[in-house]
Amino acid sequence: MLCTKCGKREAVYHRRYSGESLCSRCFLQSVEERVKRTINQYGMFEPKDRIAVAVSGGKDSLTLLQILYKIEQKFPKSELIAITIDEGIGDYRREAIKLVGQLCNRLGVEHHVYTFREIYGYTLDDVVEAGGVEFKPCSYCGVLRRRALNFAARELGATKLAVAHTLDDEAQTIIMNLLRGDPLRLARLKPVSDFVHPRLVRRVKPLCMVPEAETALYAYLARLPYTNRQCPYAHKALRNEVRIFLNRLEFKHPSTKFTIYKAFERIRPAIEATIGEVKLNECKICGEPTPGEICQACKLLNKITNHQ
Ligand SMILES: [Zn+2]
Ligand SMILES: [Zn+2]
Repeated sequence: MLCTKCGKREAVYHRRYSGESLCSRCFLQSVEERVKRTINQYGMFEPKDRIAVAVSGGKDSLTLLQILYKIEQKFPKSELIAITIDEGIGDYRREAIKLVGQLCNRLGVEHHVYTFREIYGYTLDDVVEAGGVEFKPCSYCGVLRRRALNFAARELGATKLAVAHTLDDEAQTIIMNLLRGDPLRLARLKPVSDFVHPRLVRRVKPLCMVPEAETALYAYLARLPYTNRQCPYAHKALRNEVRIFLNRLEFKHPSTKFTIYKAFERIRPAIEATIGEVKLNECKICGEPTPGEICQACKLLNKITNHQ
């Protein structure tokens, strides 16, 4: 079958939610175009931004780095750097760090690696070991990664932090918060985070309109050196069940994930209005911004210290 866009080359991908069949070149181009449109639509970047890209070494983050690199070529005053966080989960990140380094070398992008051990004094494995039965590694890891990325981006002088959350990640987060009975937390789920505190680098999500299946195909067709290794703790998370559920729905009813995301975008202003303005203090232990007295990361780390 020929590509429905150019009509010249053999199609390699059928996009069920739009009915298009695309050749490799038109597919890569269409993903890049969608990312560009998302960046413009939400005003994600300014011409002089120093953009830190969070690159874990998986297909999503390498795709993000590659596409931002292409786009940033046209903005000589902006700058791109890459940050990888090593959580300290066995040797899980070792290969990824090597591969990210290779791609950064090829693109001429600075690559910085930060470890949980350096930042917190513990690896995630230490945390799990000290955690006991009730323990959910992904929620710890999420909180600690978030803070580590902000710390690294700030230390490196970045004005924006780009993360590779895909449409799937965002749709999953929406459903998960409903299942947990915590819909108000969704006010924070935004393509561009608000400016709330000078110590928080603003986070942007240029891939929020790209389904995960397409970041994977992009990485494959663009021959990016990604790793397929799964985090050994991932199967314990609720997110995994929600992922399976959403994929099943998407298969039966193409574009379900877009619908969830767009419906939520329409509700969000109402949620934000209910919450009102959030004032942030500085954590009494580490000084990072937090709505309470002690930040989530310090609370978790305290638990671990008391456990040992
Ligand atoms: Zn084509
Ligand atoms: Zn703290």
